[in-house]
Order: sequence, then C-alpha cells, then structure tokens
Amino acid sequence: MGITVDTIEQGTVVDHIQQGMGIRVMDLLGIDKNYPHRVALVMNVGSGKSEKKDIVKIEGILVSEEKTDAIALISPNATINHIQEGKVVKKKKAELPDRMEGVGKCPNPKCISNHQDVPSRFALDGEEYRCGYCERKFRASELV
Ligand SMILES: [Zn+2]
Repeated sequence: MGITVDTIEQGTVVDHIQQGMGIRVMDLLGIDKNYPHRVALVMNVGSGKSEKKDIVKIEGILVSEEKTDAIALISPNATINHIQEGKVVKKKKAELPDRMEGVGKCPNPKCISNHQDVPSRFALDGEEYRCGYCERKFRASELV
C-alpha cells in the first residue's frame, strides 16, 4: 500500500533520497513555504527489499546541475529527474562536484567566509573538500 502523489507536468523529481534526508534536500534547494508551486515530500517509501527512501517532487522548476550535484552531499544515491509535459526528459544521478561555489558552508567558525559577504568555495581534494578560504579539509556531509 502506498500514498498516491499526483504526477507533475513540469518540474523536478528527486528520487532515491536517503531515508530522512528529504527535508534537507528541500532546504538545499531553497524550497520553503514561499515556493509558489506544488511540492510533495514523500518519506519512508518502500524501495525493493527493506530499504526505504524519500522522494521530493517539485512542480515548476528544473533544478540546475550545480544544485543537483550538491544533493550528493547529503544523499549520494539520489537521482534527479526533469519532467516536461508529464514525461521524464532527463535523468541523472547526483555526483559529488569537483568544485562548489555558493553551496555549503565552511564548518570552521573562524573562517573568513563565515564573517564576510563572500560565496563559499570548496574544491574536492581526495575524499574531502578543501575550503577556498581557510584551506581546511572537511567531509562532504559537514558542509551542509
Ligand atoms: Zn573555511
């Protein structure tokens, strides 16, 4: 048994979100009560075996690739589907980006990026991200 959520005509469906992370995906995409179109957050959806997932359906916008990849920070297996006229026109797995600007926040409280009006900057360095300002390295999950 499941909850039926209307299909959307035009927009973005983020699927295979790690269970419990759907709300954080919405935060990351800047979706809140002021968003003018319909948004559905479906939590704890059965997907195969016993694993559960969250799904976010956002009507009205095709989420950009930059933001799509940032979703990998909080949910590495997420897939992003662009929907137009009710059909999936593009499907992409979120991948950790090599570089990010204006996405994520440096966890170092002394970092200049937390005190001045500058966009955050990170570059992938091995398994971690290096801050473009304080040069410290952090795990992807620490940035969001
Ligand atoms: Zn920093």
